[in-house]
Amino acid sequence: MDSNGVVFKDVVSGKAYPIEDRVRSDEGGLLEVSYDFDALRECVSKELFDKRLGSRTFPYGSGVWRFRELIHPLAEDKHIVSRPEGNTNLYAHQKLKTYVGASAAAKHEGENPTGSFKDRGMTVAITEAVRLGKRSVACASTGNTSASVAAYAAQAGLSSVVFIPDGEIAYGKLSQALAYGARALQIQGNFDDAMRLVEDASKQLGLYLLNSVNPWRIEGQKSIFFDLLQQRRWKAPDWVVVPAGNLGNISALGKAIYEMDELGLLDKIPRVAGVQAEGSNPFYRMIKGSEQALSAEEHPKTVATAIKIGNPVSWQKAKAVVEYTGGAVESVSDQEIMDAKAVVDSCGIGCEPASAASVAGAKKLVDAGVISESDEVVCVLTGNLLKDPDATVNYHLKKLSGLSPKYSNAPVKITPNVKEVRHYLA
Ligand SMILES: *Cc1c(COP(=O)(O)O)cnc(C)c1O
Repeated sequence: MDSNGVVFKDVVSGKAYPIEDRVRSDEGGLLEVSYDFDALRECVSKELFDKRLGSRTFPYGSGVWRFRELIHPLAEDKHIVSRPEGNTNLYAHQKLKTYVGASAAAKHEGENPTGSFKDRGMTVAITEAVRLGKRSVACASTGNTSASVAAYAAQAGLSSVVFIPDGEIAYGKLSQALAYGARALQIQGNFDDAMRLVEDASKQLGLYLLNSVNPWRIEGQKSIFFDLLQQRRWKAPDWVVVPAGNLGNISALGKAIYEMDELGLLDKIPRVAGVQAEGSNPFYRMIKGSEQALSAEEHPKTVATAIKIGNPVSWQKAKAVVEYTGGAVESVSDQEIMDAKAVVDSCGIGCEPASAASVAGAKKLVDAGVISESDEVVCVLTGNLLKDPDATVNYHLKKLSGLSPKYSNAPVKITPNVKEVRHYLA
């Protein structure tokens, strides 16, 4: 059908399309990239990926493109736009283990070039934009996608338009989008309104859509798991826990696990848990209520703006992932999110609010006996501490409304003399 047996498939109907300029099926359904595993088994191996590890040869220094056969086999070196990204650290800190109550480690995706895991998908989707000869790209964003789009588009020499909910985006993220030169359109409404608008506008104005409905984003984000597995010397953990907003990342994780297993590169199937914020948890409610379809949350609310999404695009894929891996869903309050964040921060690791949902959720699943104390758990920290300084400072100053911080570390005002310093250090 197309080169190397790689095609797009509608995730519900299974209808196949050649790899071409489209992000949805004819019926408007979600697409995914589908591989010929027999052909792939002949050309990929742990040895191949290990040989590339640490390479200075383009593009293998990237923790995404090192796995290129499983990411975008049709992209040639001349198309690839890479910072490079990935190769993020895995932190095992005693304080984190104690807090979660199991053998927990944090995979810090905030160490990507623009400070979130979005870069892993964006390097691939922007590469595809270049391959297709696009001039303009667009996204709706709670912040991190726009930062990533703006940076990668600038590097590729493409113009970018970002649709952001007015007044609901963290400052670190907005500043990035503006600084990297995206045209920022502030939408009166929330993320879901921005998402609807950008899909219509892209179709009518010929902009290449870079939200996670774009199947190439998902391909790139699979590399969080590939990277993690390689880091752990190809031994899967028992659980991988991720914050869940638009549900693209959990979908990517499940696809990565499935493909590694198909290729015989996986020792066991890790269970995947998706964690939502209490005020913004339609996916959690669907799974818990054994409902067959998602009912959108009209007024999503949470301090974790990156997962403040009421009508997640990829719920069908995400549901399949929870079922396939024997995984779980959890829901956590803003209090739980911010306290977990304070713990992660105080380890010297640090993350933005949404990221800490994974840690808060892992703790809750251990407390509920779903994750066992002897399990190895990897919590994905999706974004950098510096993305949302307001949330951090306001937590420590006890200025987040409705919250009583357990781990507040507020600054103290003193007059400039040693006596006072001694007094406060005593
Ligand atoms: C985008 C994002 C998420 C949510 O990921 P989805 O794929 O939308 O579920 C979580 N945390 C951070 C920091 C993000 O930027």
